[in-house]
Amino acid sequence: MAKENISTVYDPASVETKWYKKWEEDRVFHAEPNQDGQHYSIVIPPPNVTGQLHMGHALDNTLQDILIRWRRMQGYDTLWMPGCDHAGIATQIKVEEVLSKEGVSRYDIGRDKFIERVWEWKHQYGDRITNQLKRMGASCDWERERFTMDEGCSKAVREVFVTLHEKGLIYQGDRITNWCPRCNTALSDIEVEHEDTAGKLYHVRYPLQDNPGEFVTVATTRPETILGDTAVAVNPADERYTAMVGKNLVLPLVGRILPIIADEYVDPAFGTGAVKVTPAHDPNDFDMGQRHNLPMIRVIGNDGTMTPEAGEAYAGLDRYECRRKIVADLEAAGYLVKIDEHAHAVGHCQRCNTVVEPLVSKQWFVRMQPLADPAMEAVRTGRTEFVPERFTKIYMNWLENIRDWCISRQIWWGHRIPAWYCQDCGKTIVSRKDLTTCPHCGGNVEQDPDVLDTWFSSALWPFSTMGWPDKTKELARYYPTSVLVTGYDIIFFWVARMMFMGMEFMQDVPFRHVFIHGLVRDSQGRKMSKSLGNGIDPLEVIEKYGADTLRFTLATGNTPGNDMRFYWERVESSRNFSNKIWNASRFVLMNLEDYDSATPCGELALADRWILSRYAQAVSGVTENLEKFELGEAARMLYDFIWGEFCDWYIELVKPRLYNKEGETGRHTAQYVLAYVLERTMRLLHPFMPFISEEIREHLPHEAGSIVRAAWPTAEPERIDEAAEMQMNAVMETIKAVRNMRAEMNVPPGRKGEVILQPANAELAATLADNIHLIKTMATAEPVQIIDASAAKPENAVSRVISGIEVYLPLKGLIDVEKETARMNKELQALENELARIEGKLSNAGFLAKAPAEVLEQQQARRAEVVEKMTAIRGQIEYFSTL
Ligand SMILES: [Zn+2]
Ligand SMILES: [Zn+2]
Repeated sequence: MAKENISTVYDPASVETKWYKKWEEDRVFHAEPNQDGQHYSIVIPPPNVTGQLHMGHALDNTLQDILIRWRRMQGYDTLWMPGCDHAGIATQIKVEEVLSKEGVSRYDIGRDKFIERVWEWKHQYGDRITNQLKRMGASCDWERERFTMDEGCSKAVREVFVTLHEKGLIYQGDRITNWCPRCNTALSDIEVEHEDTAGKLYHVRYPLQDNPGEFVTVATTRPETILGDTAVAVNPADERYTAMVGKNLVLPLVGRILPIIADEYVDPAFGTGAVKVTPAHDPNDFDMGQRHNLPMIRVIGNDGTMTPEAGEAYAGLDRYECRRKIVADLEAAGYLVKIDEHAHAVGHCQRCNTVVEPLVSKQWFVRMQPLADPAMEAVRTGRTEFVPERFTKIYMNWLENIRDWCISRQIWWGHRIPAWYCQDCGKTIVSRKDLTTCPHCGGNVEQDPDVLDTWFSSALWPFSTMGWPDKTKELARYYPTSVLVTGYDIIFFWVARMMFMGMEFMQDVPFRHVFIHGLVRDSQGRKMSKSLGNGIDPLEVIEKYGADTLRFTLATGNTPGNDMRFYWERVESSRNFSNKIWNASRFVLMNLEDYDSATPCGELALADRWILSRYAQAVSGVTENLEKFELGEAARMLYDFIWGEFCDWYIELVKPRLYNKEGETGRHTAQYVLAYVLERTMRLLHPFMPFISEEIREHLPHEAGSIVRAAWPTAEPERIDEAAEMQMNAVMETIKAVRNMRAEMNVPPGRKGEVILQPANAELAATLADNIHLIKTMATAEPVQIIDASAAKPENAVSRVISGIEVYLPLKGLIDVEKETARMNKELQALENELARIEGKLSNAGFLAKAPAEVLEQQQARRAEVVEKMTAIRGQIEYFSTL
């Protein structure tokens, strides 16, 4: 066996660097599609290329790595596919910031130059996050690392776009979309964050065309959109307006004639029951406009300023300047009825926090209904299962109510839309190949300037990374993947989209399970955020405590689907766990120096049978929990087994044998069991704490090769020994009872004391008799006497009842009665003084009159407490006098 010395103190930094380098050199994470055996595959949720590792990534990747390392050890042909997302707007903003420091904008340098700059940026910083994942210990197959904009993924994007277009599932249309005037792009609904804002509700009256003395009053939070009104709507059942439907109003300030229309959408209980209709600037009005064939007038431009259609007085104004001006104008002309304070939700751009503007523009859409149906069916029939199951409903709800997906973005960084417009014949051509001339007329073509929503390419990730549209051996082998591990916050963004793309293009689901986890919040339960400054950098934790510690902390705090809180105390407790493992292993290794693994072990002692049984239970328990995705529970079981049973009990129990007090056989058998259990336990621990487990196993007798590819310990049901566990429990409970009583009685730690045991039956008596040596050493007990169940109870002893055994600790000679009595008398005196003080206060009329009720209550409670303590001490003093 390896005899090289193991260092006295565990140094995570050097151990982690050493092993990760070796693993990479030996390519132990590399997957080669094999023909036989089961496979297990995961595609990483690709982090943004602009990203830096945050706690959410740390959790997500810890969970994935635990699963993949565990399955790899189980002998599965495993693939963990890594890669990054080009993150359209996020990356573009980053590079725009760099440019702005240089004093230029992207428009100054032009599209081609700008994209070059983004690639430069990617080459410089793009591997930052992958290096950080390596620091975490992530066992990805880095040789297969992908990028959503690499050649293969781009080819897949092009193929999917063109195919969906050919099938009529991608179309171009005028749509109202959420528009960010800052980013100058359309946003999908899920890129908009709604914040409650204290706004105003402006009530404006519109005169009737026939009778200018009569008005209909409407209310709006955005008075500047009045300029784009093309109707006023009421509910058809609203009798107040029945007579008016079909008549016309005159739009104040503008003079446009607006029909009064009836539409079910209008809520008669809101405001006056009449609403203005602005089809170009509100999604509901857009729908009403479609139903009633209303004209669309765009009064707000893409940059958030008013268009010429807003009229001479307002064109060119910023939307908010226009709001102020139009309110003033309405008031001056007598149209403004009143302004109410009005709290309402306002949409903000998720990227830059600018207030979004619903605008009509020409966009590309994916027709969702035909794609959503198979994606729902796949979950309904159990081809993909959500863990926990409750997330199924969220997924289904979203797909049931899905609207067509706007996939075009007015930015430069991303997959450019493969559509060309002919300048000569006016046709639009969608093409797999880049075009320079029109295939219809040979005329000049120009490519659509827009790019695709980032989620379009990430929706293809499970198959684009494996080489689709080519028929690769990776696709045949690893698709569908086994599990997707992700946060609940991107079920819509990503999970649902991968599902329908997978069903459409692979005719199969992209993953068998979706394992959902929650957020990592701060210790007060708040979301970690830049603005609160409460984020914790996982790299800081790794530098201070090591990656294993961070991983173990995240794993133990995790229950599927639920948020967790991050406590530094828990990190420290995981660090203590590493140290405990290290120190126990050092002790074992020092005692294995002369261990001859060729010699079979001798007869097993009770402690040996017990720890082997507990170990067998741990193997089954950990494996079962991993199978159920209860990773936190699996980690907790390991912690309890390693610390609570192996380190605190077994090692202590075998010390006398190791010190050769009971002959060579006992020592050799103890060595055998220590090596057996510790080496296998390191394998169980490996998925959770990959580094320390490899380092320790390396020093133990083990089969050649890295722990990464070592076999997952198999269940050993024949080792489960109920009798040994019951007997050992009786012994351990006895030892604990003695230890507790000694602590309570202030017995000096080294002083040996008599112990009398009174078991309830002969079986327990035999167990205790057989293991009396353990009780003696572990409980500092000498002599230990076992008395018959019918014998009289020993006098002058403190006692405790544990299951089936009465444990007595005679105090005579064990403690210095005189000294203890003096100590107790002193304590009693102090309590008497305190009691006198309290009673003085409570009988003082001045105090009683002035003191608040809670102070009084407090004093009374303390008096009761003091009296109770005094009674207890008096009892003990009296008892001591009999010794
Ligand atoms: Zn924005
Ligand atoms: Zn043409």
